[in-house]
Amino acid sequence: MKSIDVVVVGAGPVGLLTAIELTLAGASVLVLERLATPSPAMKAMALGPLACEALQRRGMGAAIAGEEARNLAVMQQFTEQNGADWRARMGKYSGHFAGLLIRKDAQREPQRRVRAVNQQGLEAMLGERARALGIDVRRECDVTGLEADDDGVTVTWASPAGEQRLRCAYLVGCDGGRSPVRKMAGFAFPGTAPTTTFYQVMADIDHPERLLPLGWRRTPRGVFSYGPVPGRLFMLDFSRAPENREAPVTREEVEALLRHISDADVRVTALESGSRWADNTRLVDTYRQGRVLLAGDAAHVHSPFGGQGLSLGLLDATNLGWKLAAVIRGEMPDSLLDTYTAERRPVAEAVLANTLAQAALLRPDPQSGAMRELMTELMQVDDVNQRISDMVRGLSTRYDLGTTHDDVGQLASDLHLGDSTASLYDLMQEGTGVLLDATSGNAASALAQASTQRVHCVAVDQGPSMLIRPDACIAWVNAEATTHGLPEALLRWFRRGD
Ligand SMILES: Cc1cc2nc3c(=O)[nH]c(=O)nc-3n(C[C@H](O)[C@H](O)[C@H](O)COP(=O)(O)OP(=O)(O)OC[C@H]3O[C@@H](n4cnc5c(N)ncnc54)[C@H](O)[C@@H]3O)c2cc1C
Repeated sequence: MKSIDVVVVGAGPVGLLTAIELTLAGASVLVLERLATPSPAMKAMALGPLACEALQRRGMGAAIAGEEARNLAVMQQFTEQNGADWRARMGKYSGHFAGLLIRKDAQREPQRRVRAVNQQGLEAMLGERARALGIDVRRECDVTGLEADDDGVTVTWASPAGEQRLRCAYLVGCDGGRSPVRKMAGFAFPGTAPTTTFYQVMADIDHPERLLPLGWRRTPRGVFSYGPVPGRLFMLDFSRAPENREAPVTREEVEALLRHISDADVRVTALESGSRWADNTRLVDTYRQGRVLLAGDAAHVHSPFGGQGLSLGLLDATNLGWKLAAVIRGEMPDSLLDTYTAERRPVAEAVLANTLAQAALLRPDPQSGAMRELMTELMQVDDVNQRISDMVRGLSTRYDLGTTHDDVGQLASDLHLGDSTASLYDLMQEGTGVLLDATSGNAASALAQASTQRVHCVAVDQGPSMLIRPDACIAWVNAEATTHGLPEALLRWFRRGD
């Protein structure tokens, strides 16, 4: 039986980025995907700032800009055709919390913004990058079994060529919310059961003027939203959980829902796609069991309010990839992998909590309505607006690295480096860490002694000096011209301590 460093199960966005991160850091990777082609279902329509930055660090900045420009042009045309003021809305607001718009004027770091990159566009750019790196993504491979032991994992899958088996050192399940890997490996997945049915539909309607106006509309029986692209209908039916999520959504069902939720009497003349899902909210106890790890929806599921799921998963991938590769290269101890759960699980916990709160604010009952009115008022307070905005954009993310320094544990935004034409992110394209040395070479000497090849050192005129991990997490900061704490930080993140 052949063997490989890592098998990634699932070529959704999280699986592809995990494979890219591992490959850049020197691990051999095979991606197994059940579907013959990427799913055409409309899912995410926007990508949070931290995920966009993660892709910019790996050479996808131009692709994001192109994708966003195309999508914004479509949204602008649709919005204006429907009589809404696009420029006023885009100038004033950015994102929403349970449909309550977040004001830009009270935002911290407004340049770190949610971008109009949809899931299909994202998967295409990640697929392109994976191809350019020569990553083996095998489609029509349905993973059906795994056996993990102390030395590795044997994975079995069904393919048109018959059943196949392979031995790998580690297996990463990026196989979505119903993750077969999670179930086969026996991860616990506690949380709340579904109570509500959500629909996202792309359809042509005979009388769109009979629909409620654009934007999120809370009605006595649910929630309805039309746009921001032609034909997109988003509906929440709070009366029941879905009986069968797999059953195809029909035209009759969409028409009945539109009548029930928004009193709109319209006919669906063409149904392009329709998905039905629920508000079950669950999180694994641990992201790792021995040599099997989980990332993305496989580790956490929640309602899509505020568009946070994709970013959450992509940042799992960037947190895990370099760590797993460093352990495989033999440069770091296995215990580095435990920091993956320790850092990422609290972030997921916070996202799950805020999506539950958003679900409560959207319910049609009078108590929830009163709470929503109160929240609408509170959002006018600048500090509240800022706090909610940081939360939904993910900017409150700070890993606990055991120090009280404010910046340590945060994810660095891009920085211009003095006179150099290269920015911080330009230096991170190959997946290495960066040491910004404002100590006239003392930090560079400490790095040389640590003898790691995985950190790029740059002299900068102005402080602070910083050690930045490959996932942009700030691991050490010093505003003085000393290297106090740097050798320990290098040892902790970049070199085996024996
Ligand atoms: C309607 C909707 C709207 C959303 N809107 C947003 C938004 O605006 N912003 C946002 O950030 N997030 C949003 N999300 C969430 C986002 O779509 C998910 O978080 C994201 O798809 C998770 O990516 P993933 O790679 O973890 O899983 P998936 O995208 O589910 O990919 C998993 C892959 O694994 C494959 N697979 C499964 N089982 C096997 C197997 N046995 N063998 C091989 N392959 C297998 C699947 O075929 C699939 O390709 C939305 C979700 C929905 C449903």
